[in-house]
Parts: sequence; C-alpha cells; structure tokens
Amino acid sequence: MRLAALGCALALAMGAARAEAYCRSTTSRQRAGLGECVRTGLPLGWRSRCTGYSLYRADLPPEVTMAALDRIARDSVGAWARVPCDEDGLGQQYFRVLPNLPTWQLSGYLPSGQNANTVSFRHKWNDNAIHRPGAIAITIATFDPYTGEIYDADIELNTFDERTNQDGFRFSTSATLGDPAAADLQTILTHEFGHFMGLSHSDNDRAVMWPQAGLGELRRDLTSDDAAGMCAIYPEEQTPNTRCVSVPYGGLATQSGGTVVESGGCRAAPWSSQGSRGAALAMLACVGLALRIARRRA
Ligand SMILES: [Zn+2]
Repeated sequence: MRLAALGCALALAMGAARAEAYCRSTTSRQRAGLGECVRTGLPLGWRSRCTGYSLYRADLPPEVTMAALDRIARDSVGAWARVPCDEDGLGQQYFRVLPNLPTWQLSGYLPSGQNANTVSFRHKWNDNAIHRPGAIAITIATFDPYTGEIYDADIELNTFDERTNQDGFRFSTSATLGDPAAADLQTILTHEFGHFMGLSHSDNDRAVMWPQAGLGELRRDLTSDDAAGMCAIYPEEQTPNTRCVSVPYGGLATQSGGTVVESGGCRAAPWSSQGSRGAALAMLACVGLALRIARRRA
C-alpha cells in the first residue's frame, strides 16, 4: 500500500540562514516549531492559475451578515491578489482566488463529485483532533501527496454559540475599528486565505501569517514577508501555460453533499480516488495551523 498516511503538517521552506520568516506548507506530516520550517515533503500549491471559494450559506452568527462576510472575504483575498513579485513592484504573482457562488456543501473533498472551497462558521469546536481549543479558525486542505497539488481548501471559524460552543469567538465586521471583545474577521480571513494558498506560519511577529492574534487586533495588511511567501509559491506572471479555472474539480457544488474529512482528525485514513484527469490519486486532508488567541508579548 503506497498511499501516504494522513498528515496535518505545514511548512517547509528555505535554508536556515534566510532573511525570510515565512514558511510554505508541505505534504509532510512533520510539525515544526515557530521559527522553523518543515524541510521534508513537497511544497503545496494550486496548479491552476486561479481557484474559487464559496461562502457557506447557513450558520452565520448574529453579528455577521452575508453581505459583510462577502465584502470581507473579497477584501481578504484581494490583499493577496495585489502582491507584487518583481523588483519594481509592478509584476504580480499569477495566482488568483475568486468568489464562486455560495454553497450548502460543508468542508471536505469529494473525489467523484462536485466540490466547493468553503468559508463557514462552525458552532462546535474541540470535538476532534483538528478543532483544537483556543484556535480562532483553521484551514483544511486536501492535496495530492505525490505532487503537492492542492485540490480543496476549507476555512472554518470557531464561532461562539451560547448553547453549543461557549469557548468560541465573536467576530467583528467593522471596516475600521477593532472590537476588544471580538476577533477581527478580516484579520482572521486574510490569515486563513494565506493557508488556503499554501503558506504556513511566519516567525515574523508583524506578518499576517504570524500564528497568533489578540482580540480586537487588526492585522489586515500584508508585510513584505507575507508577500515573499506568496511569490515563492506563485512567481511573477509570465507567459501563462495554465488556465484560470475557478470551478473545483468535479464542478462547483452549490447544494449539500460534502464529506466531512475530520473524523479522526489528521490521523484519518487516506483514501485513493480517481482524480479528475483519470489518474489514481491519494489524497490527504491537512489542517492549516490555527490562529490562536494570545496576548502579544511585551
Ligand atoms: Zn494559521
């Protein structure tokens, strides 16, 4: 059996003496401490020139409207889309994440069905290995362990619920102000979309990909370290040799039908499948590391 075991690793990256602080996620299940990148496995990335995300239609907390979520998600992916990847700052990385139609499909990837890369509010947490206490959000990626190609990525937000999730978080949708009792939704989504595109955590404590954020903290603007990470995955746009396909493999799922990949957490059994191009593929589910609440160090 040559299928790789499931991993929720992240990150790999450059040499030890590099100036950059970013890390890329890899196919490895190894974990690295802050300041280190996982050096094993293949780096993850999307292979198309673009992909799409879908907002999950239900379960919004009372403080978040669909219109606000839509605006903030667009602003969050927009920050990454503007990253310049050449020295004069005019050439952008070639990859784009575009809004697709909203969906009723939950997180997960169906090898033989329609799919959606979802953004959803989860009103239960700490019920399995993926959803760790203290995390504000996670990104779950499904990828090909032999190539590092990402097939699916789903963002889940740890949502306060009086009945089911009292340790969850409230989210602020303010365009300008941080709410000291809430996590800034744009800060969280900008970070999670970094995972979505293949980045792991940075040890630069100003970076969007720094793994911690405090309540009320605004961290929406990418640093040069975040930009360098994105450009390492998706270099400057040149002659395109792949197409932009924002619809997931199998077609865009707007109805329910996703498999929830989280049973057993990151140790869930891998599965083999027929990929969209007919090749036998082994897939992994992987967690993007969670953003945690933590007081900033003085
Ligand atoms: Zn993270």
